[in-house]
Amino acid sequence: MDMTPDRWDNTNAYMREVFGKDDDQLATLMDRAIAAGIPAISVSPEVGVFLQMLVSTTNNGMGAMRALELGTLAGYSSTWLSKGLAPDGKLITVELEPKHADFAQSFFDSYGIAQSIELHRGKALDVIDQLNSEFGPASFDVVFADAVKREYPEYVHRAKPLVKVGGLFIMDNALGAGWWIDETPGSNPDRDAADEANRMLANDPDFLTACVPLREGITIAKRIK
Ligand code: SAH
Ligand code: MG
Repeated sequence: MDMTPDRWDNTNAYMREVFGKDDDQLATLMDRAIAAGIPAISVSPEVGVFLQMLVSTTNNGMGAMRALELGTLAGYSSTWLSKGLAPDGKLITVELEPKHADFAQSFFDSYGIAQSIELHRGKALDVIDQLNSEFGPASFDVVFADAVKREYPEYVHRAKPLVKVGGLFIMDNALGAGWWIDETPGSNPDRDAADEANRMLANDPDFLTACVPLREGITIAKRIK
């Protein structure tokens, strides 16, 4: 069976219909964010539930005790990640833009999940370094990278020590974000950075790595040693 543009669109629509299970607050979150001038670049509902599932499988299936998200935007993916946490687990999410951070924080408050989400305002790389010194190695069950695409190789490099054996390093936009992964190397620095980060993870014997072509691609690397 050949993949055609129509079939790809239909497949995405099917996955959204069958597996994308937003509640009312989540279903309207991005519309409200866009009306507030925040860009429409969140993950989609079927990716959201996938993120919840991944987080929930860590920590011996109890759900993550500590998870890190790089790039909060309006809090859409953060909310899904938080649903996979252990009951007393915590998500630390990092956002550079004050407007995005303010919007996300007020959503966490109204959704009733503020007690399990700590929003750090600042640059992803700075916060990774702070967390390395604050918590030390092997202190996170999950790292979800979705901030600056050009920094992906550096996220892999600097956040790897944080990930516990059995924990996951997850990367959104592993296959595309305006660009697509099959474009010529050298034609787009974001493409090249995602490509480099994918290859770093896939070739690192400390990780077991797979990529799922859901929406714009999600790479999942499980730390195995
Ligand atoms: N994870 C979100 C989407 C994140 S979009 C979701 O799927 O719902 C990327 C976000 O990273 C934007 O909100 C942008 O403001 C933020 N960002 C940009 N540069 C950053 C940096 N250096 N550190 C942390 N966040 C950054
Ligand atoms: Mg993304």
